[in-house]
Parts: sequence; C-alpha cells; structure tokens
Amino acid sequence: MTHAGILSANRVSGATDARFLFVPMTRKPRWTPPPPFPIKPKVKNMIIVLKRNSSETDVASVTDMVRTLRYQPRVIRGVEQTVVACIGDELSNQSLEVLRNLPAVENVLPVQKKFKLVSREYHPANTVVEVNGVKIGGGHIGILAGPCAIESYDQFHTTVRDLVNCGIRVIRAMPFKPRTSPYDFQGLKQDGLDIMRAVKEEFGVAMISEVTGPDKIEPLLTVADIFQIGARNAQNYDLLEQIAQTGRPVILKRGLASTVEEWLTAAEYLLVNNCTQLMLCERGLRSFDPNTRNLLDLGAVAVAKQLTHLPIIVDPSHAAGARRLVPPLARAALAVGADGLIVEAHADPFNAFSDAAQQLESGKFKAFLDDLAPWVELARQANRRETPSDAKVQT
Ligand code: PEP
Ligand code: MN
Repeated sequence: MTHAGILSANRVSGATDARFLFVPMTRKPRWTPPPPFPIKPKVKNMIIVLKRNSSETDVASVTDMVRTLRYQPRVIRGVEQTVVACIGDELSNQSLEVLRNLPAVENVLPVQKKFKLVSREYHPANTVVEVNGVKIGGGHIGILAGPCAIESYDQFHTTVRDLVNCGIRVIRAMPFKPRTSPYDFQGLKQDGLDIMRAVKEEFGVAMISEVTGPDKIEPLLTVADIFQIGARNAQNYDLLEQIAQTGRPVILKRGLASTVEEWLTAAEYLLVNNCTQLMLCERGLRSFDPNTRNLLDLGAVAVAKQLTHLPIIVDPSHAAGARRLVPPLARAALAVGADGLIVEAHADPFNAFSDAAQQLESGKFKAFLDDLAPWVELARQANRRETPSDAKVQT
C-alpha cells in the first residue's frame, strides 16, 4: 500500500496507532522533470498617434503595415484623433519606428506604463476642466455639491436654491442610485430626470449625474453636463468606453480597493476613447475601521497629482460617512493639493432617503464654505506652482 493509501485507510478505520503512519515506502518515487520553462517573449507595446483628420484609408494602410511587422493593431478612434495601439514584441520584431515615415503618422511612442495619455510625461501642463463657467484644475478650485439623490421636486429645488445662493454652479443630481441592497431607495429614475430638467432650467446650473449602467447614458445625455462613474463601476471598462465616446466631461471615482495604477489606467480608457474633460475623484477605500465609512487616502491624491495632469477632486462625504467629519476631511483634501471637492448637501438631511448621516444641511452650506476659504486659497496657490513629474508608480 502506498503512503497515501495507508493514511486514508487510517482515516477510514479511525486507527490512531503512530506505527501505521511511518511504514516505509516500498517503491521509490519516480522523479519526472518539470515541463520546460515557458519562454515568454518580452512585450513592449507601442502606440501610433495618427494625424488629425486621417481618413479610413490612412488608418487601413497603417494597420496593414502594423500587421506586416507582426504586431496586433487595436484602433481607438477619437473625434479628432485616432490612435493605433500595437501589441507585440518590439525587441525581437522589426521596430515600429519605421512607421514614423508614413504620411498619416504623427508619432510613434512606447507604452512604458499601463497609462500614457493620463501621464504628466505625455502632457506636462495641468488639464483644466471647464463646465458652466466653473474651472477645475491648474489652480482653479471647484466646489461641487448636491444631495445624495433626487427625492422629490421640493427636496431638490430647495437644496439647489440654497446651494446656488452660496455660489455653487455645478450640482450633484442623481435620478439613478447604485445601492448595496436591492431593497433600498434606487432613485426616482424617469421622475427624477424630469425634476432635474425643471430645476436645471430654473437655476441655470450644470448637473453631475452618475451613470449606473449603459442604458442610463441615453436618458442622461439630454440633461446631465457631467457623467459620474461611481466607485462600483470604476473598472467597468465597457461602460468607461461607452461614456467616453459621448464626449461629455466625466468624474471618475476611484474604486473601493483600486490601486493608484488601476485608477489611472481606468482613466486611460476614458482618454483613449475621446474623453478630453476628465476629473478623478478620491472617495476613500474599504478599510477595517468602522470609525469612518471609508479610509480617505490623501496620500494617493498627492501621488496622483504628480503622476497625472488631470484634476483630482475629493469626496469627503462618502469617505467620512458622518456630517461632523466632512469639514475636517474637506480641509485636509485641499491642504494636500486637491483641485476641488464634491460634497453631499440636502435641505433636510435628517430625513434623507439615502446617506442621511453624511449630508450637510444645504441651509448651512455658506458657513461650511466660509470656514473652508483659507484652505481653498492654499490649494489654489499650491496648484499654481509647478508639479513635479518624477514620481514613479508603485505596482
Ligand atoms: C455617489 O457619489 O453618489 C456615490 C454612490 O459614491 P461612490 O460611488 O463613491 O460610492
Ligand atoms: Mn451618497
């Protein structure tokens, strides 16, 4: 009987005599060499940036050439510019540099990191996003605010009126809510869209709305000025591509457990698919400590500011989970150099349908902003200074 056989016989019979466990094996185990180590070719991906207004014939001639050189082309079409990602082995194949000579090609670049268009190396100057006359990035600090969800005409109207009275011009407007439990309030959906439209018209504000799924893009296109991609969808790449193709400004939240690299690479999906107005939003990570709802990662804000030219905003509300913690986290975010904040505020937060514990009272928003003013000024000055671009992403 083999060693394993004895062990299993002992287990079946319930025998515990130690002698049974040390019976020497009669047959010498035969050693079989492991399969040969697979030699993985070193892959160094390249991107080919085509000239603006290249025709379909230009694109086809470039991709044919790419295939001839034994790379796999992936065409990513923007409204103004088309990029061909080339997957293959630059080290053993012929170099793609020869494609520089094609008339339709503007540039041939190696992809050293998983993200390229997002990086400061590719685009050293700070990107400034502008919506409804509000600039965010490059020393412009944007404060965006609104309720967690649209609950009724009166609730949304009163909240927006309060916020507009404090100078807020970009409003959170959520007719669709991603909720952890299917039994929780999911948003007013079509009725919410109607309320959003009416209130937007009355106050002339811009609206940020979360796209919880691809079917929400079309209804929101008629009324939302900024699409939000929530933490739960932060790595839903199909959705990112579809949202990017609308050409609307986007807020991309960081996933609950995304690394900085995953966050920035998700942003690359948006930029490569034609989104030019993108803000990134840190909203806290899943942590072990229930004292805050999420763990606000301000270190990641500092790192991301160095690695990318995109504006980084912070959501202190979903990080804190508690009203009293929102002002200190907001101050900390601005002190670390965030380009703006997105804050939940509600006319009657104590009776809110969702996130009642963390929403500020919109009637007291002015006091919140007044207290924040010195930190807004600090962040403005810090962001006007040059940002170093020598940070390395840690994977
Ligand atoms: C929200 O901003 O409404 C939201 C659901 O936040 P998050 O995706 O960060 O949880
Ligand atoms: Mn909320």
